[in-house]
Amino acid sequence: MATTKTAAKSVAKKTPPKAGKIEDTEFHEFFVDELKDIYWAEKHLSKALLKMKKASTSPELAAAFDKHTAETEQHIQTLEQVFELLEEKAAAKKCDAMAGLLEEADGIISDTEKGTMIRDAGLILAAQKVEHYEIATYGTLRVFAQNMGRDDIAELLSQTLENEKATDVALTEIAVNAVNAQAVSE
Ligand code: FE
Ligand code: FE
Repeated sequence: MATTKTAAKSVAKKTPPKAGKIEDTEFHEFFVDELKDIYWAEKHLSKALLKMKKASTSPELAAAFDKHTAETEQHIQTLEQVFELLEEKAAAKKCDAMAGLLEEADGIISDTEKGTMIRDAGLILAAQKVEHYEIATYGTLRVFAQNMGRDDIAELLSQTLENEKATDVALTEIAVNAVNAQAVSE
């Protein structure tokens, strides 16, 4: 056990690359790859949110999807800003996780009846899974940026992270206040 602990400690103690000298490192490449992944995810999500809005029963949920579509556009722009700061071309790389989550959202739409609160409850479930995925991604990428000495990028990613968290809270409120009670009695 002691050996494992020592090994982990020495990895954690590895000196991070100096700011401004990161572009040649493997970690920089890895970071950019992960940015491409979430860039793909956000782009596809913005289209899916439109579909989810149209499928919604309650006006509250439709409004929340509408709001987050605009915010997602902002997330896309923020990522483009991050690519620019890294002097990298903004490119999307298929995110299998988001593709799967959006497939699940599609499944909920086809498995539930139009105009029901069960559909809204399902859409909220699907949307919250998406938000939690985004929260995990931005939370990690923000720390990576800090580790790379790029507080400017960390700050941008933090802004998106906070918005994803707020969206998750807003969706919970809609579920609790407007949707779930009706869905259960349908
Ligand atoms: Fe987002
Ligand atoms: Fe989001």
